[in-house]
Amino acid sequence: MRIAVGGIEHETCGFAAPSRTAEATTLMSVARAVRYGEELHSLGDANTIVDGLVRGVRETGHEVVPLLWIDANTSPPVTRESLESAIEDLLDRLRKALPVDGVLLSLHGAFAVEGVDDADGEVLSRVRQLVGPRVPVMAVHDLHCNISPVMEKSANAMIVERTYPHVDMAERAVHAAHIMARTVAGEVRPTMAVRYLPLLWSAARMIDAEPPMSDAVRKLRELDLRPGVLSASIGVGYQWIDNPTVGTSVIVVTDNDESQARRSADELAEWVWDRRSQWQRDPLTPQSALEQGEQLGNYPIVLAEQGDNTGGGAAGDATEMLRLFIDRKLVPSAVLYMVDPEVAAQAVVAGPGTEIDILVGGKSQPLVGPPVPMRVQVRAVSNGRFTYDGPMWTGVVGEMGPSAWLEQQGVHVVVISGRHQPVDLAFCRSLGLNCRQMRYLAVKSTGHFRSGFAPIAGSIFNVDTASTLSHDFRRLPYTRLGRKMYPIDPDVRWDR
Ligand SMILES: [Zn+2]
Repeated sequence: MRIAVGGIEHETCGFAAPSRTAEATTLMSVARAVRYGEELHSLGDANTIVDGLVRGVRETGHEVVPLLWIDANTSPPVTRESLESAIEDLLDRLRKALPVDGVLLSLHGAFAVEGVDDADGEVLSRVRQLVGPRVPVMAVHDLHCNISPVMEKSANAMIVERTYPHVDMAERAVHAAHIMARTVAGEVRPTMAVRYLPLLWSAARMIDAEPPMSDAVRKLRELDLRPGVLSASIGVGYQWIDNPTVGTSVIVVTDNDESQARRSADELAEWVWDRRSQWQRDPLTPQSALEQGEQLGNYPIVLAEQGDNTGGGAAGDATEMLRLFIDRKLVPSAVLYMVDPEVAAQAVVAGPGTEIDILVGGKSQPLVGPPVPMRVQVRAVSNGRFTYDGPMWTGVVGEMGPSAWLEQQGVHVVVISGRHQPVDLAFCRSLGLNCRQMRYLAVKSTGHFRSGFAPIAGSIFNVDTASTLSHDFRRLPYTRLGRKMYPIDPDVRWDR
């Protein structure tokens, strides 16, 4: 059978300052991977959703009908025209490939553009319109998805990642491809129920390796094992955008049993809702995290600066952590990564071995703190191209743009040009910087850094600094959520 495979992936951050370099942000200007048509045939090995879809379709003996794949970095909203042209291109390729027996899509689930709050729903509903009601359409989403009723109505099944860091991207996609194979063979008939919870989930409580999130994954596995259940998912939501799709959702897909889907979705939603206070965490200052870390005495102490998480759409140039390392003479230490194209260019021109005066970071907006004056030694420079080798993006090529490893008396800073978060040790290693030798590490990341850094960390703390992606939901400038949300409104009720 012929299974169409494609993807348009973007996580849209509504609260971050726009990039200072791009004129208008388009899907292409923030894309990190783009594959058209036949180019998808070369996929299958890396740990991405689309690789998993391609692999899964092949494994089940079906033909991959390649559409297109655009995988973009988290950014402020891209232009509506660029969404439209991506959808048109996808639909055009699908139209030419018809008839197909099924459609498998990778959609982040938190994609919005000006005037379209639910871009993923837009993609799904137009694909549905094109293929008609009989062809099964299934989508795989990021854990940080904001699921909508339009998505629910348009897809036969939605499958969400379970891990954070997202090490199960390909695995969940292969699972979706297997459900698709059984569906087109007439063995099963996916029937889906979705529940929407008025719940904002703290990122520090999404880490699946530790409780309480490990309990949630166990609950999902328990549901998987029930006869008749094809898939169970929790979407923890993406909170840094102001629109009515924001929030937690649960999804259960059964084999042709609507009542079982509804009952299981209710059960899972209640399970999550009853534990709503467990998914929250109070802010933690870097100072108190350091105190706790020194008391434990396990090094390196890794401080995850979640409010300036470039992976979540922040500008990556907040300066509080760097200033703290310098002021307290916390050495050897490293800040990964400071996004500052000007300083990166300055270092590249000066070259390795030179000493330069820089004003690093603090340029995106006043909130992130002023630039830090440093006299640094340029230890290495790079064009920013490398291959991830940690468990999350294994085999994916990274493009940091012009970059440099700089040092001032034991305080190391890796300066890059694009907005990227540290996910594993590969990029630092490519520069010659050995993170294992550091006593203190500051990473501009919320959870994904764990895939590469947890194995070398003595202790890890998610800390809150003055930066864009506040994890104190009460401080986010929401006006369009359209409903009361926990924990902003602690007394909010969830009605089925
Ligand atoms: Zn995510």
